[in-house]
Amino acid sequence: MKKEVRWGMVIDLRRCVGCQACQVACKAEHEVPLGVWKIWVRVIQKGSYPEMAAASLPWDCPYCERPEEARYPRMQTLFLPWLCNHCERPICNTVCPVGAAVQREDGIVTIDPHRCIGCNYCRAACPYNVRFPNPITGMLQKCDFCAHRVDSGLPPACVETCPTNAMVFGNLKDPSSKVSQLLSKEKVQVLKQMMATFPQVYYIGLDKDVADPLKGWEKHYYHKGYEKL
Ligand code: SF4
Ligand code: SF4
Repeated sequence: MKKEVRWGMVIDLRRCVGCQACQVACKAEHEVPLGVWKIWVRVIQKGSYPEMAAASLPWDCPYCERPEEARYPRMQTLFLPWLCNHCERPICNTVCPVGAAVQREDGIVTIDPHRCIGCNYCRAACPYNVRFPNPITGMLQKCDFCAHRVDSGLPPACVETCPTNAMVFGNLKDPSSKVSQLLSKEKVQVLKQMMATFPQVYYIGLDKDVADPLKGWEKHYYHKGYEKL
C-alpha cells in the first residue's frame, strides 16, 4: 500500500538564534537573486516603551535613535524564519489564471515556471507575502520545501543547515516522524490563523502578537529597513 505523505515543518523559535544560515543555504540552493528571499529570517523588535506605541512608521523606531533605551526588559528582539506555509487551503492557487500555481498530492505548493505569466495575482492573494517576482525573469517564485531534494530523500536545504536544529521537516501523516511527535507534545502556533488557509509550517514559541498581527499591532516595529508583517 502506498504510504500517505503530507510534508510539513515545525520551527522551534526557542532554538532559533537568528544566524540566518537557513536563508543563506536557500539562496545558494536555489540561486535566489539579490534583494529577494524564499526564506527570510525576520528580526522583530517588540517593546512596551511608550514612544514605541506612538511611532507611526516602522522605520521611526525610537530605539534606533536612542540605543541606550533598547535594553531588556523594555525591548525584546525576536527572530522569525518566514517562508511559504504550504497551506492546506492555498488561496494563492485559486486565483492563478493559467494554472501555474499548483499543490502536489504531498501538500507541497509549487509554481510551474513554464506556465507562469508573471501577472502577480497569486502574490496579491497570499496573506503571508511570501511570493515574489524573480527580478531577472519576472516569473513568480517562493519556497517549494526544496521539492527536488525531498523527492530524493533529502531534507530542505534550510533544515539541513540550521546549526541549532530549530527547523524540523517531515511527514505529518506519519505518527513516528519527528514533526508529528513535536506537534503531539508541544504547543504550536501558525501565522495569521484567522486567514483560514491552514498553514503547515508550525511554530513553537511564537509570540502571540506576532502570530496575530491584528492584536497588539502597534507594539511591533521592525528595525530600520524592515517592513511590517
Ligand atoms: Fe534560526 Fe536555524 Fe535559521 Fe539560524 S539557521 S536563523 S538558528 S532557523
Ligand atoms: Fe500560498 Fe501563501 Fe499559503 Fe504559500 S503561504 S501556500 S504562497 S497562500
